[in-house]
Amino acid sequence: MTKHPFDDFGIHLFSETVMRDRLPSPIFKKWKTAVAKEDSLDRQTADAIAHAMKTWAIEHGATQFSHWFQPLNGTTAEKHDSFISPTGKGNIIMEFSGKELIKGEPDASSFPSGGLRATFEARGYTAWDPSSYAFIKDGILCIPTAFCSYTGEALDKKTPLLRSMESLNKQAIRVLRLLGDTASQRVVPTVGPEQEYFLVDKELHNKRNDLKYTNRTLFGAKPPKGQELEDHYFGSIKPRISAFMKELNEELWKLGIYAKTQHNEVAPAQHELAPIFNETNVASDHNQLTMEMMKKIADKHGLVCLLHEKPFAGINGSGKHNNWSMGTDTGINLLEPGDTPWTNTRFLVFLAAVIKAVDEHQDLLRLSVATAGNDHRLGANEAPPAIISMFVGDELNNILESIESGKDYVDQYNRIMEINASILPNFPKETTDRNRTSPFAFTGNKFEFRMLGSSLSIAGPNIVLNTILSDSLCQFADQLEKESDIESAIKKLVLDTIVKHKRIIFNGNNYAEEWVVEAEKRGLLNLKSTPEALECYPSEKNIALLSKFNVLNETEVHSRYEIMMEAYCKTLNIEALTMIEMVQREILPAAASYIDKLCELAVKKAKISTAIPNSMETELVTKLSALTDNLYKKVNDLQTAVMNTKNYENAHELAHYYRDTVFAEMNELRAIADEIEPMVGKDFWPFPTYGELLIF
Ligand code: ADP
Ligand code: MG
Repeated sequence: MTKHPFDDFGIHLFSETVMRDRLPSPIFKKWKTAVAKEDSLDRQTADAIAHAMKTWAIEHGATQFSHWFQPLNGTTAEKHDSFISPTGKGNIIMEFSGKELIKGEPDASSFPSGGLRATFEARGYTAWDPSSYAFIKDGILCIPTAFCSYTGEALDKKTPLLRSMESLNKQAIRVLRLLGDTASQRVVPTVGPEQEYFLVDKELHNKRNDLKYTNRTLFGAKPPKGQELEDHYFGSIKPRISAFMKELNEELWKLGIYAKTQHNEVAPAQHELAPIFNETNVASDHNQLTMEMMKKIADKHGLVCLLHEKPFAGINGSGKHNNWSMGTDTGINLLEPGDTPWTNTRFLVFLAAVIKAVDEHQDLLRLSVATAGNDHRLGANEAPPAIISMFVGDELNNILESIESGKDYVDQYNRIMEINASILPNFPKETTDRNRTSPFAFTGNKFEFRMLGSSLSIAGPNIVLNTILSDSLCQFADQLEKESDIESAIKKLVLDTIVKHKRIIFNGNNYAEEWVVEAEKRGLLNLKSTPEALECYPSEKNIALLSKFNVLNETEVHSRYEIMMEAYCKTLNIEALTMIEMVQREILPAAASYIDKLCELAVKKAKISTAIPNSMETELVTKLSALTDNLYKKVNDLQTAVMNTKNYENAHELAHYYRDTVFAEMNELRAIADEIEPMVGKDFWPFPTYGELLIF
């Protein structure tokens, strides 16, 4: 029998099935209970799990283990340790204890802490997250862990994510009880992040310092053929790309990540990967692993995977669609409208909670996706604008309107609200999900938050989603717990919420100019760039909210704010320095050689006969000289702008200076270089062009 790649699904994962097989039954049960109740495990249980994990890992070829964590620089980090311990007399044993499983102490001094950790206490510690399975990667047993300072402050993305899931669980259960659900014990948020990316040829990539240093092109004239024909979308996939995709799928399957990467996106060389949704915490770990595997496997195929939000100007950028819902341990999707949503009280309450949350916390949602890279995308043509609004579709919108007006809802099949209509056809799904321009769209039984940039960890936006939902649900529960006539109280609550927060619902075209004007009239926020979005982070309202639900305390909020601002400035600084280097060492010399060649030619021609015209040489030399003079002047201006950053100490002022001055200079410099590029002979141009990079 031939082997199907699916036979290997999860072979690198220490999954629940593996645990059930390998752990003594009482230990397995203790683990299950701990995960369900979000409790910690005792030492004996941990020792037993560690032993089984080690045996399994060694059988699968691993000799080392590593606590795998997600520091605040947006990547993942590992600290490797060997299972091997010397016993003296030249012998070794393979050891791994519960203590080593539960806690690690990496040297944390090189990870950003936003002032949380003084150098004298540079150590941080990693703590095992038993709710995310361990896995084997490159012969190393990786244990998903949280990363904290010695004083217990979170230094990573996982810790607050777990805290936010816990608070959502608590508040959602309160509301479910009030709705008469006595069976559900646990509510978990679920996410399926769709990932966009570009693939470019490695050899070409390595000839461009901008791609090497910054993951995006800082120069590049528009190619004759871009995405205008849209012939790339769902187009046929070239053999090298499909070999990459096949291997990526198979490697991800081994790790228990069910993902399919296949179709091309709108932009040339762009693709998308769609995973099956999972509990948020696991989905977040999986997305980090997926990004890592994409880069690694691309490299094996002579490709480079670009996860930058906007690698090419004038070509669609890459995002990540955060498909998000909440489910109970009894198997209910809380955002499933059912066949007759207007009779589905539970759905209407949770929908109202989402509407309230998104309206009240636009700032947090916006800033959760704010990065220098994503600034090129938000507000640009193909991506949601920087304004947060929600799309619910015509059907739901009509239902909400009928609730608001107090009239019976009559749907297109003449079904009336309040009647039991279970024999009638299904609620037509096609009325949702067809607005591709909305940043936060209801897509049938979940919301799709589309503002995330492709390189972003999904932890940040999901921490915000879980927390703001906790807030709405907590307020609902507080209110309802006081009422005696719960049924009419719920109706009133849904009605009041819709009336108060309906301004956030917008079913029209988010890309239209008029929407910006209309949104302003509605009083919605339009935080156009990262610095202004981040400034909302440490506000009194946000600190109160995040501390109330034990997601982040005031110190942690401030540290995250500092780190994000700093990352923004550093990114722009590296880009500016790369541009300066490329102009001085590559573009100016290339243009100069070409000018020299033209002059040489003119002289040679004149030697033969003064009658030979040299208007081409004269004209090109004149034009190019003027442009290169200008380029030279501009590169000096950019250099001065970068030097002047040292005059700003305060993170806020510095970020604004980078945005308003340094970035503006960068754009002007690029414009001149892009004008020069098509005028210079192909053999003279120092690095591959857009055409060469994108169409290969
Ligand atoms: P499409 O966008 O092609 O119509 P789907 O709507 O089925 O496909 O799914 C899109 C993404 O949403 C997938 O990653 C899927 O796993 C995810 N998804 C589906 N249901 C849920 C849910 N209840 N919670 C979170 N994500 C979900
Ligand atoms: Mg999608």
